[in-house]
Amino acid sequence: MPEVSPVPEEVAAFRARIVDKLRYAVGKDPEHAVGFDWFEAVALAARDHLVETWMDHASRTYRQGRKRVYYLSLEFLVGRLLQATLNNLGLLEVARAALAELDVDLERIRELEPDAALGNGGLGRLAACFMESMATLGIPAYGYGIRYDYGLFRQTIVDGWQQEQTETWLEFGNPWEFERPEVSYRICFGGSVVCRDGESGRQCHVWQPGEEMRAIAYDTPIVGWRRHSVNTLRLWRGRAETDLHLERFNAGDHLGAVAESVRAESISRVLYPADDTPAGQELRLRQEYFFVSASLQDLLRRHLKQRGSLLDLPEYAAIQLNDTHPSIAVAELMRLLLDVHGLDWDKAWELTVATLSYTNHTLLPEALESWPVALMERLLPRHMQIIYLINAQHIDHLRAQGMHDFDLLRAVSLIEEEHGRRVRMGNLAFLGSHSVNGVSALHTELMRKTVFAQLHRLYPERISNKTNGITFRRWLYQSNPRLTALLVDALGEPLLDDPEHLLGGLEAQAGQSAFHQHFRTLRRHNKEVLTALVQDRLGIALDPEALFDVQVKRIHEYKRQLLNLLHCVALYQAIRDEPGVDWGPRVKILAGKAAASYYQAKLIIKLANDIARTVNGDPTVRGRLKVVFLPNYNVSLAEVIIPAADLSEQISTAGMEASGTSNMKFALNGALTIGTLDGANVEMSERIGSEHMFIFGLGAQQVEARRRSGEVGGAAAVAASPRLSEVLTAIRSGVFSPDDPGRYAGLVDGLLQHDNFMVCADFEAYWQAQLEVDARWRTPGQWWRSAVLNTARMGWFSSDRTIREYAREIWRLPE
Ligand SMILES: *Cc1c(COP(=O)(O)O)cnc(C)c1O
Repeated sequence: MPEVSPVPEEVAAFRARIVDKLRYAVGKDPEHAVGFDWFEAVALAARDHLVETWMDHASRTYRQGRKRVYYLSLEFLVGRLLQATLNNLGLLEVARAALAELDVDLERIRELEPDAALGNGGLGRLAACFMESMATLGIPAYGYGIRYDYGLFRQTIVDGWQQEQTETWLEFGNPWEFERPEVSYRICFGGSVVCRDGESGRQCHVWQPGEEMRAIAYDTPIVGWRRHSVNTLRLWRGRAETDLHLERFNAGDHLGAVAESVRAESISRVLYPADDTPAGQELRLRQEYFFVSASLQDLLRRHLKQRGSLLDLPEYAAIQLNDTHPSIAVAELMRLLLDVHGLDWDKAWELTVATLSYTNHTLLPEALESWPVALMERLLPRHMQIIYLINAQHIDHLRAQGMHDFDLLRAVSLIEEEHGRRVRMGNLAFLGSHSVNGVSALHTELMRKTVFAQLHRLYPERISNKTNGITFRRWLYQSNPRLTALLVDALGEPLLDDPEHLLGGLEAQAGQSAFHQHFRTLRRHNKEVLTALVQDRLGIALDPEALFDVQVKRIHEYKRQLLNLLHCVALYQAIRDEPGVDWGPRVKILAGKAAASYYQAKLIIKLANDIARTVNGDPTVRGRLKVVFLPNYNVSLAEVIIPAADLSEQISTAGMEASGTSNMKFALNGALTIGTLDGANVEMSERIGSEHMFIFGLGAQQVEARRRSGEVGGAAAVAASPRLSEVLTAIRSGVFSPDDPGRYAGLVDGLLQHDNFMVCADFEAYWQAQLEVDARWRTPGQWWRSAVLNTARMGWFSSDRTIREYAREIWRLPE
């Protein structure tokens, strides 16, 4: 990051503060401090700088009576905070210099911070980008979620297979957070509901729970760019009402004495590692209700304290539900307004709908959450009653409007009757919100046509699109300081405050070979950094001059890592068949975690590793093709990989990726995209120009048409493509798995019979697009012009733009 050299007084003051923290908070003197002690001391010193802005901002919001945004998300994929915080505080160089005077290297201690992986992938990372953007834009906001003891599992690769290890990110403590034992709420489960006649003759419902526990708040301050404002990420941890039952303990029942405590704490123990598939277990529903209830109680208390009445709640609070995970909020807000605060049904419903809004992240019908009615009745009996009532009113309302079509009523009901009775959480979130949004133009269009087709007909104004974005502070300034310096050099310092609008100025440089040279030089440096990391972790030597072809994301069949691997094998065979041709050099880099229970995804990881071993060990392709699977993909690894990528693989089956955000990170950093017209790729191609990308394959409508036509297998595509046939034959016959030749027979046969993700159908188009990649790479003037234009045209994909759209159109914040 280009920063003017730090003022000596500031450096001295910050150094003094670090030493102070080391002594009095960590309890070490500089002579005996080890690495993590230094990290902790610097983090605490930086946190001090946040606190004043934090408190100022909170009291200003209160005094001015500003509307607050509450972002409810089961996941926040935050990553490390030290550099991001120092960067936004404008203290990065100050801290570097202060530490250098103490003979400590900032880079080294930066790496000691655990990567806070309280999320699975894109959805959680979006929540983290949004928190940063809201702080940057000065929007008063709280993020609400769960403080998991164990984040997403750590992935190791043993003999090519994924193994999962617990992620103990809190092992050495977390210097960023403030524990708030005084901010705690009662959370109830089970029991029964009794109906009583209340005063004024109205019936009231009293939930007599079978089980009670508490949620305790932990606050992490999130600072915006140039300390514009500081917001709070408030994460809840489960605690028992009573930690130890003394009577039982004294009676000798030592385990029974803590049983309640163990049960309560298990609720915030671990993040569910499922991505784009429903978790489906009772503990998951308990987690969802736990954090939703605590968050709603917290924000209602805040509102009441400030306004004295809940009747104007929607004017002062906007609650965004990140996917269906927090959708029980619809019933919980109703319960709190009805049973606790005594509002009548109609008023409570009006306030609920006006306050809540819902973001949909997936179209896969099987991935939309639903809970068995029996489970809901047992765990949340009062909520089940409320859901039945909402449903009855909703259906009555439709009938009153003359709608009696049974299929329609069945489709829009909150209760699914077909597969055992279940509550459809997507429909609940839709009905209980005044706004429902998709995360890219294509995804939103498909939402209107598929999952919510009938509800959309009934409420045509409710669905809107808010295309995702990424925060440039992390994904450009922090992860690619050299590119940032070049951009500031070319476009001036103001770029840093408004890259969204000023990046476009780069177009003027896109044709200049002198600029290309600078661009290449800094990218060469980034590739050397990644090369060193690969050497260090895997012992594989890469050539930084090679084309770095990268696919990093969760492993999922619809994301089609398999298609990439088939190309890999095809390229390998082509090089062996025609060694005289000028192939490459190319490096294929893959990374990503598979849900622990997702066998097919884990098999794809094994295949990647099998192919890597075979290819990297074959002298005939040496210097032309290397394959690397980097273990334990997370935010910190993404920050190293993305700035080093030349080619970004965004090759999901069209119609299946809601948006994608890594596509944006890569293009911003100057990689060219090879991709399908899916998710946000569509809008990227409109803004960047499809001639500066490599778009291939079936479109969403063609995929849909093919599915409807009943053409299910891949056999026809294989018959038409000798190349694909040869690839599959090699994989099937054990060329890459000599130790277990049948390992991939099932995988290949599966493709031939059910090419659900159009891997075979798209193979030839993909191969052709990859040939175009090679051709462009061999024409550096063209390649680098396209690369510069990618960076220049990505400004719109800033999460600041996305957040401004939410603020204006969904949260209705004053400008
Ligand atoms: C951005 C990001 C994602 C999302 O990647 P997609 O390719 O859009 O699915 C997932 N994980 C991490 C660590 C990320 O930084």
